[in-house]
Amino acid sequence: ARLDQDGEEESQPSPATLSKVEDLLQPFRLSVEKLREVMSRLRKDIIRGLGKHTHKRAPVKMLPTFVRDTPDGTEKGDFLALDLGGTNFRVLHVRVEEDLQKMVKMDSKVCAIPQEIMLGTGEQLFDHIAVCLAEFLESLELKDQSLPLGFTFSFPCDQKDIDKSILIRWTKGFACSGVEGEDVVRLLREAIKRRGDYDIGSVAMVNDTVGTMMSCGYRDQRCEIGMIVGTGTNACYMEEMKNVKRVEGDEGRMCINTEWGGFGDDGSLRDIQTEFDVTVDKESINPGVHTFEKMISGMYLGEIVRLVLIKLAQDKLLFGGETSEALLTPESFETRYISEIEEEGTGLERAREILTDLGLTVGPGDCEIVHLVCDTLSTRSAQLCGAALAAITNRMRVTRGLERFQTTVGVDGTVYLKHPHYSERLEDTVRLLAPKCDISFLVSEDGSGKGAAMVTAVAQRLAIHSTL
Ligand code: BGC
Ligand code: MG
Repeated sequence: ARLDQDGEEESQPSPATLSKVEDLLQPFRLSVEKLREVMSRLRKDIIRGLGKHTHKRAPVKMLPTFVRDTPDGTEKGDFLALDLGGTNFRVLHVRVEEDLQKMVKMDSKVCAIPQEIMLGTGEQLFDHIAVCLAEFLESLELKDQSLPLGFTFSFPCDQKDIDKSILIRWTKGFACSGVEGEDVVRLLREAIKRRGDYDIGSVAMVNDTVGTMMSCGYRDQRCEIGMIVGTGTNACYMEEMKNVKRVEGDEGRMCINTEWGGFGDDGSLRDIQTEFDVTVDKESINPGVHTFEKMISGMYLGEIVRLVLIKLAQDKLLFGGETSEALLTPESFETRYISEIEEEGTGLERAREILTDLGLTVGPGDCEIVHLVCDTLSTRSAQLCGAALAAITNRMRVTRGLERFQTTVGVDGTVYLKHPHYSERLEDTVRLLAPKCDISFLVSEDGSGKGAAMVTAVAQRLAIHSTL
């Protein structure tokens, strides 16, 4: 290795190596024109998803949520919330207060969902959920209350109403049998009935994006978009009812769960998919679906980086041309490593630690290269998300007939929250691609818990009003 002035090992890779690494990373770098193309493809897919006759075959599902309003501050009461489909399964007890305009999470409990349940039968899954809820209610002496319940269920569902929700398909590593095509509320109620020791009140089904939007809506009434970049990725927004062709009525708005993770499932993103994306898809438990999500979200980002590192090692551009058993093991490179390695100041040091723990021989310049790979993949993710968000805000501006459009996006998810540069890169991209929109971002405070309670509270308010 070359030595620098202080006699320390030169940490920069050689220009020749760097240029070969760059060549390999080139397919991940998206030009502004390409991002514009992606945005305009999504714009068309949004229209297909909303259409009565085009919906069935549309890759971006644009699912009506039956959430017709954001909070107005008069909501109140005690609620239960369930949160399934993020990092943890949780049960919560939330109080929404009228005058104070505040929501209080009073108690919550996290229950692990063991892998064998994630891949078991639906009955096992819902029995497990019912047990968890029972223990929670027991500990709070709430078993005799039958409280209304908001169920954050972060998977694509065809909602027939706020309390009737058919699972279209599992995503993110869940694969319980006998649930796809079934009404999730019915499965939950049946599991509770099988126990017979407590009951619940009315149920509102909530996608996590919707909970996120609603929890922010309490603090900022302009919040009409919810976005998640975590284990999975998705967004929802308030659409004009007249454009929601699959639901009766033309007045007002309804929140639409875009399920943008499915973008590209008809092959429309083939030009930007790399060989690594294709491999990640093939080796996932749901090949062929959620193409866009697999280029963006936390469940897959680390895996893409791992595959690139293997390739670089095989090409003798990293680790002295050697891999390790750990590096060759799927999922060994966790997505959180990307955030840690890109952290200003401490990142390169941490890279060395991570790579050493993976049993790799870290040569001079290797940490720099690994940093470059992480930076490239997280940047692509943020830019793709930004382009998709721009497609939504541009649409909202146009359908509302506005010259300029001001809005707030409620956001959540580990990738967005934990990565040191993600939000900035995403926001820069949206600003570039949606120049006539003024967009603020608000990090949600527990959208999947408090937000779900809020959805339930708003649904109750609207139900009371419509019967008066
Ligand atoms: C699901 C969405 C969810 C997103 C973020 C995706 O895999 O299909 O329903 O909103 O993950 O959790
Ligand atoms: Mg309509």
